[in-house]
Amino acid sequence: MKVGIVGAGMVGSAAGFALALAGTASEIVFVDQNRALALAQAEDISHATPFHSATKVTSGGYDALEGADIVILAAGVSQKPGETRLALLERNTEVFRAVVGAVLAVVSEPILLIASNPVDIMTHVATRLSGLPRSKVIGSGTILDTARFRSLIGRHLGISPQSVHAYVLGEHGDSEVLTWSNARAGSIGLSAFAEQVGRPLTRELRQSIDHDVRNAAYRIIEGKGSTYYGIGGGLARIVKAIAQDQQAILSVSTTTDVVEGIENVTLSLPRVIGRAGVHLDLHPDLDDEEREGLRRSAEMLKDLSGKLAL
Ligand code: ADP
Repeated sequence: MKVGIVGAGMVGSAAGFALALAGTASEIVFVDQNRALALAQAEDISHATPFHSATKVTSGGYDALEGADIVILAAGVSQKPGETRLALLERNTEVFRAVVGAVLAVVSEPILLIASNPVDIMTHVATRLSGLPRSKVIGSGTILDTARFRSLIGRHLGISPQSVHAYVLGEHGDSEVLTWSNARAGSIGLSAFAEQVGRPLTRELRQSIDHDVRNAAYRIIEGKGSTYYGIGGGLARIVKAIAQDQQAILSVSTTTDVVEGIENVTLSLPRVIGRAGVHLDLHPDLDDEEREGLRRSAEMLKDLSGKLAL
């Protein structure tokens, strides 16, 4: 499988590094308006790969994307001092207008994996601009928030995060919803499991996990300026589900017909991911508070995306 990465900055290169080490792709190509950066990232990463895999890592112009099955879009501009969120979004929409057009001129029907932030809106933008089926334009969404949620629960209960089934839905951002009501440890409801092992999930503990999941990115940005390894790992996980046609259930962002009464909104739900992209959307049972949280998140995203001229 050939994977293109447009945007060879911190996020794009972290995704490329994770993918190359895992050997999921046979070939990775970096494209960036800063060609020297794309070349340098490809060369650096290609020096690490022989220790782990046979993935070929190169860089080039858009024409080098020919034959790519998946193209990760990690290009974007960052917020200028005093710039509003909407103004930043408008600038990033223009970046995507150029990038999506250039990609589709070379690869006719790739799966687009969107990593640029705000990821739900940029996924919405990429879906509209590309005209690709919704199932083929996938935002990393809450994949990382879900991983953090599962890790923190697993750590408290003393079990592997992979044995915790719990999802973060909605926006990748402040309005996201941690769905406690349907979370399970193995096949047992979370609260019952917690009681059984003598580590109850008190209200305070849930609040502390909620706070940690919601604020993880802010904490990392405070310490090192930006976040990239986590999301790089998450993007590599999505590529693996597609490359190996795993039908894995991952929380990712795509444009969805209806979420809590709101139509054509782009946000995260658990979805079945395989070779063709999103094969199925899941609508988990939620309690009233979670449903209301998801509705609010959907409404906010719908309003914001409606403000963009697409
Ligand atoms: P992040 O931390 O989100 O990865 P960076 O600023 O490190 O942010 O990376 C963003 C990358 O996107 C930069 O390398 C930049 O050159 C690239 N980029 C921005 N606009 C375009 C564009 N129109 N075409 C291609 N690459 C772009």
